[in-house]
Parts: sequence; structure tokens; C-alpha cells
Amino acid sequence: MKKLLTIAVIATLVLCLFWIGNLYPKKSAIAPVTNQLENADVANLVEKNAGSQETDNVDIFQPPLDRAGERVSKKPFEIFITPQNSPIQPEKFRGYHTGADFEIFPEESDADVSVRAVCPGRLKAKEYVNGYGGVAVESCELNGQPITAVYGHLKLASIRLVVGSDLKSGDIIGVLGTAYSAETSGERKHLHLGFHKGTSMNILGYVQSQSELSGWIDPCLYVCYD
Ligand SMILES: [Zn+2]
Repeated sequence: MKKLLTIAVIATLVLCLFWIGNLYPKKSAIAPVTNQLENADVANLVEKNAGSQETDNVDIFQPPLDRAGERVSKKPFEIFITPQNSPIQPEKFRGYHTGADFEIFPEESDADVSVRAVCPGRLKAKEYVNGYGGVAVESCELNGQPITAVYGHLKLASIRLVVGSDLKSGDIIGVLGTAYSAETSGERKHLHLGFHKGTSMNILGYVQSQSELSGWIDPCLYVCYD
């Protein structure tokens, strides 16, 4: 009986020690890890805030059309097009493509396809230009640098905004022009989107040298997701 009692007391003591052990050492072991996490979080926050206060505004860019990534299937940025090699036949253009072409899906051929502003900015121009049909040009800022966004092959009459209007990302600019009509200057129904560096207006769809092409930025770096 005495032996049993001793075992019971020892067992109780062991359990107590185990319980106390659970309470104290763990807390002190966890604390430094938590501090490390907190410090890392603070560092991240500081980094993020510094980024947003300075120049990184690419998060406010948006695709001009839904499923934008799937649409750039024929003429991506900087492809060198000739009448012989072009995925579009017949082809009248030659040179490095300064923008990205967003194709329509079959069910959109007879529907109004709205084109949305890819960035917050100001409508700089809307006009009829040979080779495009309707064109809209928007002044924006990308990573703290001025750019102009060129939207080509729009139905000019559908661009209701007056020049000088302020735009938010996602605001409707107009609809795509009807295929092979004056609205698209005889081209298929699609959107040509170009990002030109600087504030000056340049709506060239093709350029003849790499050095001229360096004045342009691939829009798909920023707006070709779905
Ligand atoms: Zn194009």
C-alpha cells in the first residue's frame, strides 16, 4: 500500500512538472519568433508605404477588355510585320509593332465591345486617323513617368468624352469600330493599344527601327491579364 501511494505521489508530481513545463518554457520559446514575425511585418509595411508614396502605381492599371491576356494572339508588342509574314492577310503595314493588338472573340463580332481606360488620366485627343479609324489618346503616369496610351480602331462617334476629360481606370472610352469599315480604317475589329513614353503625342502603329521602338513600352507588362 505504501508503495502504491509513493507511485501515486511521484506520478502526480511528474504530471504537475509536465503541466508547469508546458506553461512556462513554451511561452518564452515562442516570444522571440513572434517578435521576428512582427519585425518582418513592420519591414514589409514600411517598404510598401515607401513604394506607394513614391512612384509605383502599376497596381492602378487595368485591362482594356475582359480576358485581355487571351486576346493578344496575333500581333504582340515589337513583332516585326511585313506583308509577307503577317498573321493578318492581306497586310498593308511593315515595321515593328509599337503596341499590342487585342482580338475579339467570335461572339463579339456583331456586338458592341466596350474599351475601358487602362489607367487614370486625361483624354488628350480623339480623332479620325487613316490606318486606325477612330483613335483616343490618354495621358497617364506609369511608375512616375508620363506616358500616353493610344487606343486604336475605335468607333469615333462612340467616344462621348470631350478632350480634357479626366478618366479613372475602367471608365468606358468607346466601343470597337465595325470590322472592315471606315470606323476601323478597313481593318478587322480589334483594339490596338500602345504606350508611348513622354507627354508628346505619337500614334504610330509601326516604326522602322529598334531605336524608334525604344520610345514605346509593352502594354502587356501591365494590362494583359484576365
Ligand atoms: Zn496594332
